[in-house]
Amino acid sequence: MSRPAPRYDLASIRSDFPILGRTINRHPLVYLDNAASTQKPRAVIDCIRRVYEEEYANVHRGVHTLSQRCTDLFETAREKVQGLLHARHGHEIVFVRGATEAINLVAQTYGRQKVGAGDEILITAMEHHSNIVPWQMLCEQTGAVLKVIPITPTGELRLEGLDALLTERTRLLSVAHMSNALGTINPVETIIARAHAKGIPVLLDGAQSVPHLRVDVQALDCDFYVFSGHKLYGPSGIGVLYGKESLLKAMPPWQGGGDMIRRVTFDRTEYNDLPYKFEAGTPSIADTIALGAAIDYLDGIGLDAIAEHEHGLLRHATEQALEIPGLRIIGTAPQKGAILSFTLDHIHPHDIGTLLDQLGIAIRAGHHCAMPVMDFFEVPATARASFGLYNTYEEVDILMNGIREVIRLFG
Ligand code: PMP
Repeated sequence: MSRPAPRYDLASIRSDFPILGRTINRHPLVYLDNAASTQKPRAVIDCIRRVYEEEYANVHRGVHTLSQRCTDLFETAREKVQGLLHARHGHEIVFVRGATEAINLVAQTYGRQKVGAGDEILITAMEHHSNIVPWQMLCEQTGAVLKVIPITPTGELRLEGLDALLTERTRLLSVAHMSNALGTINPVETIIARAHAKGIPVLLDGAQSVPHLRVDVQALDCDFYVFSGHKLYGPSGIGVLYGKESLLKAMPPWQGGGDMIRRVTFDRTEYNDLPYKFEAGTPSIADTIALGAAIDYLDGIGLDAIAEHEHGLLRHATEQALEIPGLRIIGTAPQKGAILSFTLDHIHPHDIGTLLDQLGIAIRAGHHCAMPVMDFFEVPATARASFGLYNTYEEVDILMNGIREVIRLFG
């Protein structure tokens, strides 16, 4: 089996991540839960420390040196996100807590403004709960209807019925760029073109895709794009809503408070310009700046090189998994990111996760916040190994030996 060396110095990259040096249950940590959250390089950790030790003050408010310095760093992080997504304007980048908050923001602003009784929101059967529940809440509030694009047994979208699902009542199509439960990378270019042909805007949930694919929101022509910093080797508690300028301008604000206003009297409030209109209150300052550091770090390695390496790991893991009797891969689409979801005959995924943990191997076991996917495949849960830029072929082998050990223990 081929084990192509990555285009970057993997040993040196691994040494950038302090946590990878630790042991878990007397074994070296094998961290394969990157789809849930990634570990942080020293560049990100040091950035947070440096902000608090040397640069910290509140942003957008003060005339004093530190406040201006911190505001510059904060706004530079916005430019870095703009570059990452290739957005046309910096003010199309809104900082939020994460993908979840970004989708809720769109549901409660764009949604509350545009969606009425009998209108439709279209999602897919492979969405994370974050891209289901906010729309259900909106439907309850407005009397709209949630429609769902079904999936196939390989975990791909059934697009033959898409045109029929895109009706004159559809107000938004919201779809995962890459599924966290299955690994499927959806053909979003086709989906967007077909929605736009009927004048329907599209939100892409990029929580899983941004760390693994090169994203260009202008080339994709998506209307909204959301992601979380913590899956991109950056801090938790910071994420991004990208929206096309024309849409964001027309949307009402979500939360009211400081920073999102231009002028307040007791009679009325004039709202601030983009993106501040959507950024009420003191933001997560150091974490936002450190998200910029994470983007610099990834740029230094190269997103294409990372994707290539992760692809090799997934291929290697899949080839080995197929040789294990009783192992069923959930999600076998030809276009997949570095996620291997699986079940073992007669062994609950929680037992797989717990036993692997005894060997120092961190994987995810559960419904992955995608219960409808579990229902479709008629499993209560899956075990999920997900790979990141620092994982090695040896770690894949350790996982596969671990799985064989689990099967042996269960007899
Ligand atoms: N969408 C997808 C596809 C995800 O994988 C996740 C995180 N598991 C989310 C949305 C939600 O991200 P967060 O919890 O960071 O808001």
